[in-house]
Amino acid sequence: MRRASALFTCLALCATLLSGCGPRAQSSTIFAMDTVMELTAYGDRRCVDEAVELIHALEERLSVTAPESEIYALNKDGRGDVSGDTAALLSRALELCALTDGALDITVYPVLRAWGFTTGEYRVPEEDELAELSRLVDYTAVEIDECTVSLPRGVMLDLGAVAKGWAGDAVAALWREAGVKSGLLSLGGNIQTVGAKPDGSKWRIGIRDPFSEETLGAVEVSDMAVVTSGGYQRYFEEDGVTYCHIIDPQTGRPARSGLASVTVIGPEGVVCDGLSTAIFVLGLDAGARLWRASEGYELVLVTDGGEIYITCGIENTFTPMGPYIDSEIQVIRRG
Ligand code: ADP
Ligand code: MG
Repeated sequence: MRRASALFTCLALCATLLSGCGPRAQSSTIFAMDTVMELTAYGDRRCVDEAVELIHALEERLSVTAPESEIYALNKDGRGDVSGDTAALLSRALELCALTDGALDITVYPVLRAWGFTTGEYRVPEEDELAELSRLVDYTAVEIDECTVSLPRGVMLDLGAVAKGWAGDAVAALWREAGVKSGLLSLGGNIQTVGAKPDGSKWRIGIRDPFSEETLGAVEVSDMAVVTSGGYQRYFEEDGVTYCHIIDPQTGRPARSGLASVTVIGPEGVVCDGLSTAIFVLGLDAGARLWRASEGYELVLVTDGGEIYITCGIENTFTPMGPYIDSEIQVIRRG
């Protein structure tokens, strides 16, 4: 009898301790959308499994190279019906193309393919070939009528610049609906946070130094996406020149705007993803102008010379680290 009550006390104590710790972390690491992804939710294991399924389903629909995808079919046929979710993403992406005046252009695929970025068979295309292909790059030519999409002859879509942000938003929505109070997604250069950390404090998200494997600084966020685009993520070299996977739609050539990396912090992953690619193309001055003309997000920009610029909304939450610990941080203001 005494033993039983001692056992009971012990069990009760364990239960109290466990409940004090909150829900357990559930994690998965997968390879999808051409990158390693890590998903962690504090809660039910099922939430993580469902998120993995959701990401694979999105990839199957949006991939530009998988013959069974909706985007592949559109690029082949020039016209077709897509799912409501893909139509919603296309509309959102076209809004971002317009906002950035075409620095983001989801019809860049014919040019991107010529450089070999989709196949890994890299080459530097001839001037004539680029001029010819650049005529096909025009997001304003994409027509969407509910779920029916039409593309002029030769125009092709690639949602690579926004798909991971969209996937992050989709998983965050799934988890919030399931009651997850705390979660973290790392989709390559895209971080998406759900709620705050289990202890209630903010997530501290490191931003990678574009020139080394180190972290250049950290921002503190909750319920936000932190998305980085950089020339260091995917590139090839030929004759001593580095060519990165982000194309300047105006030239048909890899962007060379003077920025080494662009991080966008905001509530919507798809917006952060689209804008990080676009501002990498635009460069420091035009990027700062775009930020002043719009709202709802903050920036961390690193120039090719290693200077860091942040926008004033994160002045008090950005901490430089590692090689930048003593660097002077330039603050971009609205006025
Ligand atoms: P990552 O995919 O490495 O995180 P981004 O979000 O910046 O980087 O997206 C880069 C991808 O977007 C490229 O691999 C290509 O598929 C596509 N892309 C490249 N340049 C542009 C552009 N100017 N506008 C839209 N999409 C682009
Ligand atoms: Mg992007």
